[in-house]
Amino acid sequence: MNGSLRVGSILGVNIALHYSWFLVFGVVLFTLSKIYFPTYNLDWSEWAYWLVGSVTAVLFFVSVLLHELAHSVVAMRHDIPVKHITLFLFGGVANIKREAENPSIELAIAAAGPAVSVLLSAFFGIIWFLSRGFSVHLAALSFYLGTINAMLALFNLIPGFPMDGGRILRATLWQMTSNFCQATRVASITGQIVAYSFMLGGVLLAVMGNWLNGVWLIFIGWFLHNAVESSYQQSIAQNLLRGVSVAEMMAKDCPVVDENVSLKDLVDDYVLRYAAIAFPVVHNALLVGIVTLDNVKEVPREKWPGTVVADVMTGIEKLKTFHPWEDASRALQQMNERDSPQAPVVEGGQVVGLLSKTRILQFMKLREELGAH
Ligand SMILES: [Zn+2]
Repeated sequence: MNGSLRVGSILGVNIALHYSWFLVFGVVLFTLSKIYFPTYNLDWSEWAYWLVGSVTAVLFFVSVLLHELAHSVVAMRHDIPVKHITLFLFGGVANIKREAENPSIELAIAAAGPAVSVLLSAFFGIIWFLSRGFSVHLAALSFYLGTINAMLALFNLIPGFPMDGGRILRATLWQMTSNFCQATRVASITGQIVAYSFMLGGVLLAVMGNWLNGVWLIFIGWFLHNAVESSYQQSIAQNLLRGVSVAEMMAKDCPVVDENVSLKDLVDDYVLRYAAIAFPVVHNALLVGIVTLDNVKEVPREKWPGTVVADVMTGIEKLKTFHPWEDASRALQQMNERDSPQAPVVEGGQVVGLLSKTRILQFMKLREELGAH
């Protein structure tokens, strides 16, 4: 995640703190020390509130981290690499590199997190039970952590993809129907329903005067809505493009155009002749940019003869290029992130092909129709 600070590594997984985490840590620490503990324990000293508040806040985030580590360990045991775990505004996220190969692996990875949260809840519950008689501080701390871990497990088990519960739902449907795409679609729809319910609930809370919780709920719903969308597309693409390289997806004999060709010649000799809408631009046979029909359309027609490709193209410095051996699903993801429908494929500075999103999507559609799940 951009804007994250790496703080260490556990079992080969990098642990990072996103800058938004510091904000949420501050809020949790303040709420515990100034509101939660003082409300339920009237007779503590000021420093006791802060001390117990700090330890509780740290253990709360350790709990979140252990939840994500559980997902990661199970993923790595099935040879799925995990680069890092990031703690951020909405909790934690493990960067699991690819989708599971089969439903039972997916189920194991998804269930591991909530399972650890349940165990932590039970652990703190036992500490609470044992410490009630001799330490009010320890009892208060473990009561809070027992409750919050149970809530963490329950929240994550809400059956909307890409939350843990949604992944469990997908794995179950996938197992039952052997259809990965359809299972992902259904789990994503429930994910959207959950996201909209959060937003609606937030609006209702805000209207009833509970502003802070209302806005927070709207915020979570909105975050989830975006997560459903992007996880759905990524998930489907990874599955349908499994083992497919950029070389297999690119148009190989795509014509290249010199940067000094006029727009008029570009339209007459290239666009109309090859019926294509994007061309890699070269100078001395080396790639310098890409020109598309949209670039041309921005210039009034009467100026086409006097304008050259170099004037309107997207220069190489703003361009994402790919190598033939790269993963097609990864390339598609990066093209989506940069909102670029075409990208040149290069090898040693030479253009060897042109990758287009339309072509990849067509391929995916065909694969789905032919029943590759
Ligand atoms: Zn989880």
